[in-house]
Amino acid sequence: MSGVGLVAAAVILSGCGEEPVIQAKSTKADTAAKAQKAQAAKLAAAAKVKANELGQVPVLMFHRVIEKPATTDDRTPSQFRSDLERLVRDGYVPVTAAEFVTGKIDIPAGKHPVVLTFDDSSPSQLTLDEMGQVKPDTAIAILQDVAAKNPGFRPVATFYVTRDMFGKIGREEQAQTLQWLKANNFDIGNHTRDHLNLRGRPREQVMEQIGSIAQEVGSLAGVKPVTIALPYGNQPSTKEWAARGKFHDTTYKHSGVFLAGYTPSPSPFSKSFEPLGIPRIRAMDKKGDCAQFCSTAWLDWLKSNPDMRYTSDGDVSTVAYPKFKDPFLRTSYKTWSLAY
Ligand SMILES: [Zn+2]
Repeated sequence: MSGVGLVAAAVILSGCGEEPVIQAKSTKADTAAKAQKAQAAKLAAAAKVKANELGQVPVLMFHRVIEKPATTDDRTPSQFRSDLERLVRDGYVPVTAAEFVTGKIDIPAGKHPVVLTFDDSSPSQLTLDEMGQVKPDTAIAILQDVAAKNPGFRPVATFYVTRDMFGKIGREEQAQTLQWLKANNFDIGNHTRDHLNLRGRPREQVMEQIGSIAQEVGSLAGVKPVTIALPYGNQPSTKEWAARGKFHDTTYKHSGVFLAGYTPSPSPFSKSFEPLGIPRIRAMDKKGDCAQFCSTAWLDWLKSNPDMRYTSDGDVSTVAYPKFKDPFLRTSYKTWSLAY
């Protein structure tokens, strides 16, 4: 206690406008000790929430959200709402595909990222009225509603666009829809122009299919897609053609290429991550061939195997994980490492 008394005395004696004596004595050693203390606090905080930023992430694949499902890929509005409510209950927070592949996973400590992806740009995902209001029961309306009722659940998702353009024919209406997505922080991805199976197609055709829709999205909304989802999940004979290419004056460069099935994705910070072939999970209940490999089954599995799941430490600038996992850290993220 006498030390505290001395400090107070020093402050009083030094008078107004002068540096208190105690501060003037700050040295390099103090700064180093402070940094060490801050690092120890970070490590302790990461350990406390069992952060595992080398764990697996579910990337969910949705198609249409319609009242009368025509295929097993469709969800009804109430099914889609329950899908989201389950994610809330399980502690997931959405990030976009672009954020995911570039390692910008900015969610609170103890939470798990989930990537919501929507294929084929159908009007059931987004339709705007003449005042620019989102039509009820579309995927975006439901996502925004669930997010509003559950603070912290980010209303973000990635929309993989084809020439179908949410059912809009005129360029102005297409521009309105894509620009609305951009203005509301939704991510626009490439899903090729005509939704052809790219397997076995010549290079020129692959690049035309990808480059021409990239050109459209660019001219309509000023957006350059960061990721692509391949139709039917089929890769071209040379995988790199999906990631990088050129059509007329348009070049495209994707940081991630998404497939169609059947497992959660490795973390983008893990050596197991393959940017040219990122798996997604179909949004479906445990029925038929979905008994094991679709969203309900995988979310159950991740819940009962928490050591396999990505858990955030709440700091977007670090990659936190138990030291034991060190050999799995991707070399490019070495400087981000927070191993506890
Ligand atoms: Zn598709």
